[in-house]
Amino acid sequence: MNVNAIREQFPILHQHINEHPLVYLDSAASSQKPRSVIDAMKKYYESDNANVHRGVHTLGSRATDAYEGAREKIRAFLNAKSVQEIIYTRGTTTALNLVAASYARAVCGEGDEIVITPMEHHSNLIPWQQAAKATGAVLKYIPLQADGTITLEDAQRTITDRTKIVSIVHVSNVLGVINPVKEIAAVAHRYGAVMVVDGAQSTPHMKVDVQDLDCDFFAFSGHKMCGPTGIGVLYGKKELLEKMEPIEFGGEMIDFVDLYESTWKELPWKFEGGTPIIAGAVGLGAAIDFLQEVGLDAIEAHEHKLASYAYERLSAIAGTTIYGPGPRERAGLITFNIEDVHPHDVATVLDTKGIAIRAGHHCAQPLMRWLNVSATARASFYVYNTEEDVDRLADALHQTKEFFGHAIG
Ligand code: PMP
Repeated sequence: MNVNAIREQFPILHQHINEHPLVYLDSAASSQKPRSVIDAMKKYYESDNANVHRGVHTLGSRATDAYEGAREKIRAFLNAKSVQEIIYTRGTTTALNLVAASYARAVCGEGDEIVITPMEHHSNLIPWQQAAKATGAVLKYIPLQADGTITLEDAQRTITDRTKIVSIVHVSNVLGVINPVKEIAAVAHRYGAVMVVDGAQSTPHMKVDVQDLDCDFFAFSGHKMCGPTGIGVLYGKKELLEKMEPIEFGGEMIDFVDLYESTWKELPWKFEGGTPIIAGAVGLGAAIDFLQEVGLDAIEAHEHKLASYAYERLSAIAGTTIYGPGPRERAGLITFNIEDVHPHDVATVLDTKGIAIRAGHHCAQPLMRWLNVSATARASFYVYNTEEDVDRLADALHQTKEFFGHAIG
C-alpha cells in the first residue's frame, strides 16, 4: 500500500492548521473523503440530479440507477444475499433505532431480555433502554474483563432462553476491542435470539461478510468509511425485515393508499419513506469503490501497524494510561489519558500543533464510569495516516506533559 499516493487523493489533508501541517487522527469520529467521492457527488448534482423511482424522464432514471447501483455495491461489499436486505438510513444511529423501534417492540414482552455490553456507544444502548421500557423487557449486560474485553463464556452465561435480542459493537470506538460477534451470534441463535451488530467502527477498517458472521442485523455509517455524512445502512436478513413494520410513513414507501388503509412497497423500499439521500448513496458507492481498490486487508494491516507503533510510543510517556487490550488485540485507535492533564487540554494543545484528536466521553458514558474517568483522549488511524503522524503525536504529547508539568509544579 502506497500511503503517499493515497494521501494525494485526500485534498483536505494538504493544509496547515495553526501553522503546522495537519495531522488528522480523528477518523473514528469521521473520516476524510477522497477526491473520487467528492467528484462522484459533484458529478451527480451537475449532470444526473432528479428524484428517484418516479420520473419517466432521463434524469429520473439516471438518478434511480445511481441510487440503486450504489445499493448493489453495498450488497456485494457486505456479501449480503440480496439488495432487498440493504436499507439506506442516515447512519448507524438511525439503523439501530429502526431495529429497536420496529423489531424489538414487536418481539419483546414482559420479562424478555435484551443483551448488550457496557462498552456500547450510546447509539447501541439508548434505543434498547427505550425498547425495554416500552415492552417490559429487561436489559442485561455481558460483563467486561479488566482489559475491557468480553469472553464467550460470559456471553453464554448472560444469554438465556428469555433473550430475544443480542446487540454488540463489532469494534469498540473507545477501547479498540474487536468483539467475537460471529461466535456470540451462534450462542444467540442457540437460544432463539437475533444478533444485531454495531459495525460503525469495523466496516471502514476490515472485511465484513454478513453471511459469514451470520448476524441478523448489521449497522454502519458512510461518513466513517470515506463516504459522506447523512447516509448509512441497515443490513437485515430478508425473512426478518419482511415481518417488520416500517417506522416512517409517507411518500416513497407505499404501494396502495386509501382514505383509511394503506399498504407498503416491498423490501427494501418500505423502510425508506420520503425522498432519500440520493447523492449520499452515490458518495457511499464511490467510497466502497475506493476502499476495495486499496483493499480492506491492506487497510487493516496498515492501521494495525500504526496502532502498535502508537501504543509503543505512548506507553513510553511516563504517566500515560492507555485503555483497552494490548496492541496485538486492538483495532486502529488508542484511547488514553495523561496524568494530571485533562484530555480537553491535551486536545487543545495538540490542535495548536496542527494535530486533530478527540477528547471527551466518546458517546460512551457508562464505559467512562467503568474506566473510572470522566473523559479520555483518543487518537484514531486510517488509510491515510503515517508513522510520521504517530511521531508528531508522541512528540507533541511529550511537550504537552512538560508544559503542564511546569505549569502545575
Ligand atoms: N457506534 C459506534 C461504535 C460509533 O463509533 C458511532 C459513531 N461515533 C456510532 C455508533 C454512531 O454513528 P453515527 O453517529 O454515524 O450514527
